[in-house]
Amino acid sequence: MAKGKGTRAVHAGVKPCEATGAIMTPIYQTSTYVQEGVGNHKGYEYSRTLNPTRHALENALAELEGAKHGLAFGSGLAAMDNLIKILKPGDEVISTDDLYGGSYRLFTTVFENYGIKFNFIDLSDMDALKSAVNQNTRMVWIETPTNPMMKITDIKAISEAVSGNDVLVCVDNTFATPMLQLPLAQGADVVMHSATKYLGGHSDVVMGCLMLNDDDLDLKLRTLQNSCGAIAGPMDSFLVLRGIKTLHLRMQRHCENGKAVVEFLNSHPKVERVYWPGLESHPGHDVAKRQMSDFGGMISFTIAGDNIETAHKFVEAVEIFTLAESLGGVESLIGHPATMTHASIPKEVREKVGVTDGLIRLSLGVEDSEDLIADLSRAFDKL
Ligand SMILES: *Cc1c(COP(=O)(O)O)cnc(C)c1O
Repeated sequence: MAKGKGTRAVHAGVKPCEATGAIMTPIYQTSTYVQEGVGNHKGYEYSRTLNPTRHALENALAELEGAKHGLAFGSGLAAMDNLIKILKPGDEVISTDDLYGGSYRLFTTVFENYGIKFNFIDLSDMDALKSAVNQNTRMVWIETPTNPMMKITDIKAISEAVSGNDVLVCVDNTFATPMLQLPLAQGADVVMHSATKYLGGHSDVVMGCLMLNDDDLDLKLRTLQNSCGAIAGPMDSFLVLRGIKTLHLRMQRHCENGKAVVEFLNSHPKVERVYWPGLESHPGHDVAKRQMSDFGGMISFTIAGDNIETAHKFVEAVEIFTLAESLGGVESLIGHPATMTHASIPKEVREKVGVTDGLIRLSLGVEDSEDLIADLSRAFDKL
């Protein structure tokens, strides 16, 4: 029976404990498992290899993304690290020029040292993609919507253009979550999440995951996960299992707040530009409308003048919004990418894609939109 997103969010991957009837998956805080005889165990031998709490979460994550397999790691970047390690020296990856700062750092400062080449292009330009693909290309790394410019990439078009040919199409689905976007159904091969963000949803855990359908690739990734060891712990797995039970409700509110705040910003005289895929004027709006069921609660904007001083003044003037890195929690956050999340990206590189000195990013929480708008309004008045 095909189930709706909400039903899946609540029930995916979990069942009551057979021994006790406990409705919530226990936190199996254990490193090892008793064997009744040599090799005679219940499927668990050592918790780096597999732990029952992590196992339940991995199944839940797979079900949410409509995937056959799920793997959970100690952070989003650990999940990416595990995936890139299937590549060999000489292999090439094509990625977006508006990439999450930590992903850019992982690619350029770590994996380039191991002989893997990264080519950052505008993935909304299909001609640029076609001319970037060569015989060494093994992976296309998509982020959509991107962080923080909210650029939209057409997952289906890219999958049709390069998939097969020994090229894996991988999508960082952190911003959209499986509630708004299902990349595997659009032809992608692997989905990655920083579960730290919306999946966990409460700013209390750092975690990452990979979801995919291919059995051989799953075996490779699991072997790497066990060999390198950057696994998600049982307590953190429990927290994310709990988080995803309300993912559909939270995403609905994040999207509603996104729409309301964008309307406010768009009509405010001190605002220069607003970046949100739900705007009809957004260059990726048509693709977003096709591949997403709603537009999310991440917004970037610039204030007239577009400079560091005004931006810093603004982010320090708000009271309900909290000045912090990260996103996707129940509380609204405000950030200044140029000096926070994107500080590790060279100024020329970030400005080329639009991360100007004055850009401000909002992660809308699930508070009342009237209060959020009043808070922003007060901050504008103080400028
Ligand atoms: C946070 C984030 C990551 C990295 O995840 P961590 O859990 O912080 O390691 C990757 N991609 C995006 C889009 C993110 O927001």
